[in-house]
Amino acid sequence: MDGSGICDVVVFDTTLRDGEQAPGFSMTTPEKLRLARALDRLGVDIIEAGFPLASSDDAEAVKAISNGIRRPVIAALARAAERDIVCAGEALASAQRKRIHTFIATSDLHLERKLHMTHDQCFNAAVAAITHARKYTDDVQFSAEDATRSDLDFLCRVIEAVINAGATTINLPDTVGYSTPDEIEAFFASILNRVPNADKAIFSTHCHNDLGLAVANSLAAVRGGARQVECTINGIGERAGNAALEEMVMVSRVRADRAKFTTRIHTQHIFATSQLLTEVTGQAVQANKAIVGRNAFAHEAGIHQDGMLKDRRTYEIMRPEDVGVESTTLVLGKHSGRHAVQQRMSDIGVTLTRAELDRAYRLMTTIADERKNVTDDDLRAIVAQLREQAEPAAAAPGSRKVAKAAGARPAAPDAPHALVEFGYGHGV
Ligand SMILES: [Zn+2]
Repeated sequence: MDGSGICDVVVFDTTLRDGEQAPGFSMTTPEKLRLARALDRLGVDIIEAGFPLASSDDAEAVKAISNGIRRPVIAALARAAERDIVCAGEALASAQRKRIHTFIATSDLHLERKLHMTHDQCFNAAVAAITHARKYTDDVQFSAEDATRSDLDFLCRVIEAVINAGATTINLPDTVGYSTPDEIEAFFASILNRVPNADKAIFSTHCHNDLGLAVANSLAAVRGGARQVECTINGIGERAGNAALEEMVMVSRVRADRAKFTTRIHTQHIFATSQLLTEVTGQAVQANKAIVGRNAFAHEAGIHQDGMLKDRRTYEIMRPEDVGVESTTLVLGKHSGRHAVQQRMSDIGVTLTRAELDRAYRLMTTIADERKNVTDDDLRAIVAQLREQAEPAAAAPGSRKVAKAAGARPAAPDAPHALVEFGYGHGV
């Protein structure tokens, strides 16, 4: 942290590991490699490339990414067991910068019901795993699975021991998405305060979204002292997913006054990375997803569209181009008003008189009653219809030239700024 109170946060992307292990999100090695290249371009610090012992495909993907991607640290997951660590170490062999990420559950619930281990057995396995992993690399991360539901005294004892054994990053996951922001902030602050050698490691947060709190909890963990955030593109991951990278990063950009941390993410690549992930997995992002959803920069309500056309800042807190979205979309639908119709017509090269705009607007709302939104082709059809209807009247003997001239008189007195009707929709 510098004098301004702004700290540097390491972005650890686990799209290819936690994200990929969710149902419906599996990827082939070439697909993972494409994603890894996009994550490199995006500027993530660490790419968790897979869990090599889990399958030969995972091991192959970790090897391919270790070979092909040179700038970020490549991490591989391993349980706190010798064969896992050997497998991870071998898969990472050709990486320029490598990290072994080893984990064991520390909560009584997991130890008793899942692992059938005592505290002492868990403690010893954790320390042995770190010692072993250090033979492959100096960059070793330890995760205490279900950390947020673990006994705090025991957890602190394990953390101190693994740091002494050579762990350089300590990740404390909210594995089941159970924590709340106030709780997780206090949790990190208390551990950093209690563990005597806490200054020898970077603390990391890994939050799941079961209660929709993954990003809020990650931000709170940073306030509590975490300096690495684990996240995924589009927030994919086990069950309800992980903290979404794009949301974390954009909070730090848009609200730098409140979220006092910086990352090395090149935000203009966010949208393309998100799109690549949906293309590769075939899993669409929900339309209203923050930052990357189809509607994140779309406006249909007339009051909003009118505000946007006058000054984008009325309804837009960030510029779409800052996250790589080409432009704001003004969606024409039943909530839209004349101002938006006029703008969209102008975008397709059509200038309407005030009278034409009124009729075009009514035709647009008729279409919008039947369909969810109105396309540029619909608008062209509306213009054709308007101009066709104008023709017979103009065909009266002797009047054609005059009528045409009248029809072509656009808009001098009805200049765009004279339009005050902006339709309906939600003002708040
Ligand atoms: Zn997870």
